[in-house]
Amino acid sequence: MTPREVAALLAYVVKLDPRLALDDQAAAADRLAQWCDLLSDVPATAHGWDAARTARDHIARSPYRIQPSDVSRPWHAHKANTMSRHVGTFEPTAHPEIDPDDDTGNAYVAALRRERLAVASGQRAPTTHRALTAGPAAAEVERRLAALGEYMPPTVAQALARYRPQRAERERLAREDAPDPLTVACTWCNAPEGEPCRRRAINPRNQQTRYRASSKPHPCRVEDATAAYLARRNRQEAHA
Ligand SMILES: [Zn+2]
Repeated sequence: MTPREVAALLAYVVKLDPRLALDDQAAAADRLAQWCDLLSDVPATAHGWDAARTARDHIARSPYRIQPSDVSRPWHAHKANTMSRHVGTFEPTAHPEIDPDDDTGNAYVAALRRERLAVASGQRAPTTHRALTAGPAAAEVERRLAALGEYMPPTVAQALARYRPQRAERERLAREDAPDPLTVACTWCNAPEGEPCRRRAINPRNQQTRYRASSKPHPCRVEDATAAYLARRNRQEAHA
């Protein structure tokens, strides 16, 4: 807290507990200096923390006159609790300025420290999400991407996406663990599993029938795939 914030806090506690009022100017200045020193590492407000409320709660509950430690001790307990909940998961997309191929990794370490410091000082909420690296959801995504075959670096896949929209769409659905219509055959156009739906096109010149791949699956196929997906998910949950 800055001296100004400490002075405001002192004025507030004196108002709540008039026994704390000091008539002597010199004594008041001494007390302010003492509080400023002892509360220099305690913020006035932070995530889930308010020094004034802590002081108020103390005065409301305790018959003893409030001491600076009655504010600093709860702050350090609050900070320890926050840090125990902060798992430190690093979200690279929140730091586009960091080069992932940096030789030393210094920028990454510095960013990690800055985040930790911000959490410790209450400037930001703790990160409580661990990266999704295990569990049935992650395993299911792995299984589906593996079933689609051959790994391709994401950057390459992205560059090729517009030349193979069907494939890009299936990969997107797999990553989001959403139903993929192509996992079932279409009962409307009889397109087999893994192949796109097709439209019949009749050539007006020779009346020959041809099939053209359609970019969108037929609605009944989407319904069937969703039902199959939900059934599989229910089975997995029953086993879990
Ligand atoms: Zn179809």
